Amino acid sequence: MINFSIAEISKIVGGKIAGLPEFANQRINQVITDSRTFFNSGYSLFFALTGPRNNGHLYIPNLIEKGVKTFVVSDKNAINKNATFILVENTTLALQQLAIYHRQQFNFPVIGITGSNGKTIIKEWLHEILSDQFKIVRSPKSYNSQVGVPLSVLLMNPIYNLGIFEAGISQPGEMENLTEIISPEIGIFTNIGDAHQENFHSIQQKINEKLNLFKKSKKLVYCCDSGVVKTEVEIFCEKHLVEKKGWSLKNNPALISFTTKTVNNFTEIYASSNGKKYQFKIPFTDSSSIENACHCFVVSTILMNDPLQVVERFEKLEPIAMRLEIKKGINNCVLVNDYYNSDLNSLAIALAVLHQQAAKEHLYKQVILSDIQQTGMPPADLYKRVNELLVEWKIDEVIGVGSKISYHFNLFSIKNSFYNSLNKFKESFNRDNFKSSAILIKGARQFEFEKVSALLQQKAHQTQLEINLNALVNNLNIFKNLLKPETKIMVMVKAFSYGSGDVEIAKVLQYQNVDYLAVAVADEGVQLRNAGILTPIIVMNPEQDSFQNIIDNRLEPNIYSVELLKCFKKIVSQNGLQEFPVHLKIDTGMNRLGLKSESEIDEVIQLIISNNWIKIKSIFSHLVASDDPKYDNFTQSQFEVFEKQVELFAQSFPYKIERHILNSAGIERFPHKQFDMVRLGIGLYGVTNTGLPLENIGTLKSTVSQVKTVNLNETVGYSRKGEVSVISKIAIVPLGYADGLDRKLGNKNGSAFIGEKRVPIIGNICMDMLMLDVTGLSVTPGDKVEFFGPNISILEVAKNASTIPYEILTGISQRVKRVYLQE
Ligand SMILES: *Cc1c(COP(=O)(O)O)cnc(C)c1O
Repeated sequence: MINFSIAEISKIVGGKIAGLPEFANQRINQVITDSRTFFNSGYSLFFALTGPRNNGHLYIPNLIEKGVKTFVVSDKNAINKNATFILVENTTLALQQLAIYHRQQFNFPVIGITGSNGKTIIKEWLHEILSDQFKIVRSPKSYNSQVGVPLSVLLMNPIYNLGIFEAGISQPGEMENLTEIISPEIGIFTNIGDAHQENFHSIQQKINEKLNLFKKSKKLVYCCDSGVVKTEVEIFCEKHLVEKKGWSLKNNPALISFTTKTVNNFTEIYASSNGKKYQFKIPFTDSSSIENACHCFVVSTILMNDPLQVVERFEKLEPIAMRLEIKKGINNCVLVNDYYNSDLNSLAIALAVLHQQAAKEHLYKQVILSDIQQTGMPPADLYKRVNELLVEWKIDEVIGVGSKISYHFNLFSIKNSFYNSLNKFKESFNRDNFKSSAILIKGARQFEFEKVSALLQQKAHQTQLEINLNALVNNLNIFKNLLKPETKIMVMVKAFSYGSGDVEIAKVLQYQNVDYLAVAVADEGVQLRNAGILTPIIVMNPEQDSFQNIIDNRLEPNIYSVELLKCFKKIVSQNGLQEFPVHLKIDTGMNRLGLKSESEIDEVIQLIISNNWIKIKSIFSHLVASDDPKYDNFTQSQFEVFEKQVELFAQSFPYKIERHILNSAGIERFPHKQFDMVRLGIGLYGVTNTGLPLENIGTLKSTVSQVKTVNLNETVGYSRKGEVSVISKIAIVPLGYADGLDRKLGNKNGSAFIGEKRVPIIGNICMDMLMLDVTGLSVTPGDKVEFFGPNISILEVAKNASTIPYEILTGISQRVKRVYLQE
């Protein structure tokens, strides 16, 4: 936490004080950059960050209303007499300068972590392993960006004696700033993968860019088993006089060598360094976890004379839940699950998400919270601060589970109840106490709060579709980058947002300020309005019976025929309304809905001009084969017809009418035809035609219910289709065609991913179940199985089922629960 006055900060960042001079001597203890997750006014300084897609200056009036009095800005026009401003050239840079200055106030050791994978896990595990020996300040969650790193370092204060911060970059040149902010004494280079490779011309360049973090470090921990990493690290260490702390799992020459052995669900790891030998074990068997544990062990040997003190800790390491899960709960509740090792920073972040989930539907807000561990604060101060946070975020009720939080019950001022243990909570659990409420369930792993979540969760079907909301936003931004800043974006959320869920996706899109949402039928739009979505919504296939509903809910219909227009006009006039917004669809070759002939178009123009009941917001058409180069000539002809027809309207109306024709593949392949708006669909959900670096957003998952042996003369499933050629091991999974998995994927046309292996679907897929051939693998009931997601692309599944990704996505049935992940 920082403690500088505004005048001091202004000096540190080379700014000028403007606006109201009153608060120049105000001491600041909190820095904020995201107005949306902000609550407490107190002594906060807001940095108005600007980027290609957002502008923090826009939120200043709102923040002043909420009581913020001090701002760092780069836009003079934002300055007014209601607050004190520090004017700088670049607000991100100013934030970084402040962090550099703050960092220089401390000389306890700091560990810096970079590399492609494992940064957050290593950081969290080091924290677990070392927390008896050190008081540790670390990056919250995976705050590792140009903004996240300074915000993390600003958390340093004198009560700590070890810092652990992670740094991530996606482009050349970015590490420079982070190096000075973190200024690590000890470095960890995790590994190198192909993420963001498009921005680097070689893997060596990417490694070296990341290594810059350690230019002034004393020691660098790295794995010697990847040839290219080893070579680059060793050249780097020679050049910058950094001591090499290399390790190997494969007997390569290194300071520390490890060997491993799998025993049940544990891996035993043997370390040998300078003639000394150590042995420890971890409750994981996958190769990434082993690699992460080796990094942690080497760091322990650097920080402690004798790592024996901590080897036992490795056995208790837990998986790190880096994302929050958002699920539907019982009685119209929304659950926000956070199994992240509780600490105050992550509590503040989780409360912000809870607030966002509750705000639109005006839900009651409840927090179920475990004891908070390892904060280094005296418990009385800690729970007092927890209560302050709950009050700041206007939480209605807190339920404490655990002996420590219960002991401090008298520090809580909002409605509360406390239970000494999870069992006590479960004994007195009553479903009726949780109704129309947004509930944050937050507890460190050992409290087993997934059991609390299970009590409150709506559906218990083992099969689920996980939707990664961060990936969705990332995909949206990739498409935005293909467009001019002024081009509007309509996002297609029809068909349950291509199967990924309606309200949750729409909430995220509204939060990202998309210009329009599009649904297929009026009911879908009404549902969004009921959930508090205010973004304009267009109904693509309006039916005459739904017109009154459309008007009542301020939805905007797509008018595709003269008849529809006449009918809608009549209803608008009956409602006594004027200039009701509509969108006109022109048929330029699809021969589906749309105005086609010039006479139809003339008639529509006359009908609209004759009075002012209706206003044309936009005119659009839809491409037939935007994804297929074979039909590019046809696509060109569609553009031509569209432009000609649009011209007829432009000449007839005095106001501007927006034009749009591109869908996702169109945006990728014909960005010069973006006109005033584009309609983004499948691309948002991760499917690309041109190799854009989109992220997968949906993962269809289930768990193994039973495992059995099948002999040579036996078969698997209906009609004896699943034949085996050796004695086989079969895993049964509760996912069938009624869940939306295409039956064509049976009989080895499709596969699943289990452990780290691909396995075929054997036999016919049943209504509610399928069978996997897991011969030769160690598989037990409860194991997770992926059907599409990071390891199996939706495109591949579509191909195997002889269909298109759209059908795979929209086909996942409603009984499969959707779980939303957000970082
Ligand atoms: C569904 C739809 C889109 C989006 O298409 P994608 O191929 O998913 O990008 C665009 N425009 C209209 C009219 C649509 O119906």
